[in-house]
Order: sequence, then C-alpha cells, then structure tokens
Amino acid sequence: MVPKRYKILLVEDDRLDQMAFKRTVKEQDLPYDYTIAGSAAQAKETLGGQKFDLVFVDYLLGDGTAFDILDSVVNTPAVFTTGTGSEELAVKAMKSGASDYLIKDPARNYLKVMPEIVKNAIRHKKQEDELKKYHEKLVELVKDRTEQLAEEKELLAVTLSSMGDAVVAVDADNRIMLLNKAAEQLTGWRFEEVRGRSIDEIIKFINDQGRQSVASPIDRVLESRKIESGKEHDILVARLGRECPVSATAAPIRKNDGTMTGIVMVFRDVSQQREIDRMKSDFISSVSHELRTPLTSIKAYAETMLYDENMPEETKKEFLQIINEESDRLTILINGILEISRIESGTIEIIRRPVNVSAVAARAVADLEHLAGKKNITLQSDISGNLPELLGDENKIHSLVTNLINNAIKFTPEGGRIMVSVKFASDELIIKVADNGMGIPKEDLPKIFGRFYRVHRPGKQIQGTGLGLAIVKEVVLRHDGRIDVESENDKGSTFTVYLPVASPLPVKAAGEK
Ligand code: ADP
Repeated sequence: MVPKRYKILLVEDDRLDQMAFKRTVKEQDLPYDYTIAGSAAQAKETLGGQKFDLVFVDYLLGDGTAFDILDSVVNTPAVFTTGTGSEELAVKAMKSGASDYLIKDPARNYLKVMPEIVKNAIRHKKQEDELKKYHEKLVELVKDRTEQLAEEKELLAVTLSSMGDAVVAVDADNRIMLLNKAAEQLTGWRFEEVRGRSIDEIIKFINDQGRQSVASPIDRVLESRKIESGKEHDILVARLGRECPVSATAAPIRKNDGTMTGIVMVFRDVSQQREIDRMKSDFISSVSHELRTPLTSIKAYAETMLYDENMPEETKKEFLQIINEESDRLTILINGILEISRIESGTIEIIRRPVNVSAVAARAVADLEHLAGKKNITLQSDISGNLPELLGDENKIHSLVTNLINNAIKFTPEGGRIMVSVKFASDELIIKVADNGMGIPKEDLPKIFGRFYRVHRPGKQIQGTGLGLAIVKEVVLRHDGRIDVESENDKGSTFTVYLPVASPLPVKAAGEK
C-alpha cells in the first residue's frame, strides 16, 4: 500500500526556516507535498483556494501574525510555531484554534519532532471529526426519538380521550396520574382538579344490594398485585354522591424489572345493561306467574275428572268447557308474549310499505261493529279520506287500531258510545279512540302500557292478558310515534296515537334493533 501523503502548508517568512523545513523533509524523506507561503496575505490567498491536511503557521510574519490567519484555517489542523519561546503565547494560539505548537529553538532541533507532531495533529483532527460526526448523529437521533415520543404521547392522549371507556391511572401511592374524558364524565371530576389527589377522595365503590362500601378493583390490585375485575353489583359513587352502576377492571402498571409503579382502571357505565337485566328477570317472573294461573286450573279440573270415575256427564262437560276456555286463554297469552318479544327484540320484520291509515282504521271499525252491537254500544267513526300515506306495517297498524277499539268495547258498559277518528295535522297522522266507559283510575294511568298490567276492577270479570297496550305501544314506537291517554274514572277514556309521516322511516332488516 502506498503510504498516505500529507498536503502541508508552511506559513513562514524566514527564509532560513523555510530552507530548514525543506531540508528536513528531503533528508527524512517525509511523505509531505508542501506549499510555502511567505506572508500572511499569501497564506490567506492560498488557503482560500486549496485544501490542506495541515498548516504550519509562524507567529510573527512580515505583514501580520499567526492570529490574523488562524480564522481562515477552517477544518484543518494548524500547528503554531514561535521563535519567542513563549508558552503563554502558544496557549493563546491553541485557544484560538491551533491544534498544537512548536517552540523553535535556534539549533532547529524542533524539526526533529515535526513528523511526530504532524502525525498526531492529523490523527487528532480525524478523531475530532469522527467525534463531531458521532455527536451530530446522536443529536439527530435524540431529536428523532423526542419527536417520536411526542407523537406517541400525543397519539396516546388522543386515544385515551376519545375512548368510550373511562380510564383512571394512579401511582404507587394511589394518587391520580390520569383521568380521561369518559372518566371525567362518569366521576364528575375534571382531571386538573384531581391530579395528584388520592383516588379514595374522589370515588368510592358500594354494593347495590347491601349499600355498604366495598373494595374497589384498585384496592384489590393493591392487595393482590394482579388484574382484578369489579363485582357484579358494584356501584361507583362519584362527585356529589351521584351513583352509577359500573363494570370495572384494574391492572398493575409495572416497570421492566417488574416493580409496580401504579394501577390503571378501566370502567364503564352499565346502568342500561343492569336495567335490561332487571326487566328481563321481571319479565320472566311475570310470564311464569301469568302462565301458572290457567295451567293450575287446567291441571286441577283434569285431575278431578281422572280420579272421579262417577262424575256425572253434566259436570264433566262443564269441566271440559273450563279446560277449553283456560287453554284458549293460555294460547292468547302465549301469542301475546311472543308478539311483544318479537317486536321488542326486532326479530319480527316490520314491513314498511305505504299504508292508507284511514282505510285500515275503517276496516277495523267495520270488523268490530258486530262485537259492539252485542253490547248495544254505538261505534261511530270520523275518518278523513285522502290523508297522506304512512310508510309502515299495515298489519301492525290494523292490530293497533283493533286493540284500542277492542279495549274500548271491553271497558264500556252496555249502551255506551265509542268514537274512532283519523286526522292529519303537523305532519302526523292522529288516530283517536274515545269511549264513555269505565275509565282508568289516575294512579293506574302511568302503568297501563306495561306488560301484564291490568287495572284491578273488583267484582268485574273482564277477560284479558294485560299485554294488549304493551303491544300497541311497541308498534307505535317502531313507527317513531307516540301514544297518549286521557281518562277519568267512570267517565271514559281517550287513547290518541301520533304517527309521523314527514320523514319516511328507515327500512330495518329483520333481526335489527
Ligand atoms: P287487557 O285489556 O288484556 O287487560 P291491556 O294492556 O289492553 O290489557 O290494557 C291494560 C289495562 O288498561 C286494562 O286491564 C284496563 O284496565 C285498562 N284499559 C285499557 N283500555 C281501556 C279503556 N278503553 N277503558 C278503560 N280501561 C282501559
């Protein structure tokens, strides 16, 4: 390998020194390609046009000093030479950017160490450059990582704040480090208000049955040091004592070495689910109760007939009659239950087609005239023709009107009057069924649309399941409408159904809720 040659600039005004330098290079066969500048001006000019591996610069030059040109020596090691022998001056030169110095002695022995100085200065410069590059890389890396971290932090913050679930994080001393937006809403506290405060001051957990305080999932993680879920009956007591049933899970936050530095808890409002669960169990218990009554009666009569071999034919017939009626009641009840749960769960398809509600109501009136006639009830109607059509389920609307008229007939004594009207106002079709029958007591009014709810009417035997109005209400809701009732005991009742026609109803597929 050819040894590397160095390009050197000697800035020296002393001819003897110049010659001594040349001689040394020649005698020692040093690998230098050198240029000599005899003045500061010449040196500056040379440095402006060429690049060197090293510059020797003498302190005193005819037209200035070494300090005048040190500024021009950019990115090149400069070795300062001085004949005055002043170390102080040499140090000053080093501070101004020189990388080394040579004190010239009159015998010019300094030239002996020159090759070593050159090598060191160049090596030193190379190392410096590498270090500089490394630093630049490091700075770039730190900058990138910082930006990346900031982005990640931002992403985490956005994710946390847009999460539907509430999130709270506490440190090892139970002090709040984070409370996202959903958690702010659920607890009623703003993060700024509670940052650094103990979580126990902010929220607590109680049991919705015994109503006593219970350990929160955070407390339990503190104890077990592993993931803990809340209990089924947990209620979160938030700001100002507001209570909310929640489902919560908490987990320890650990460092890489496994030490626990805090706890994070994710929780959500489950009041709706709890309400649905409650309704479901209410429904199941009322259904079983309603089914048991006719079944008990059927079983009792059947058993009596089985064990009484000598039962007169007349009694047998009477019992069979009762069994038959009770079976009919069971069938009606079961059909009603099926109907209401199908509508509610959305498993029944509500077929939406343009419906002429006036025609449907007129048909219902005509169908029931005979039944009304049996009780000597006048069934009248005031149904406008030419009304806008409703986008809805014709069969369901028909059963809605039939149900209301049927009830009116059932709860109106002999000789009464019923008026059915259909009108259009404020973008709504308004169906009214008014009777002058027995009315509904005030305290029962809010409950009559509930499933199985029947007004207690002592001394009166009126058949029914308590499901009719519940079904009517579901049909109305599925058509985005509403239902009102006005009633006075012994004076009569008026049921009014409002069905909007302005915006066509979105078509829902079967099974859709
Ligand atoms: P059902 O008719 O099978 O008893 P509904 O759900 O249709 O059940 O009605 C619930 C209760 O509301 C009835 O038991 C009845 O007491 C009362 N009700 C409904 N319609 C009328 C009405 N037109 N007049 C008086 N009471 C009524």
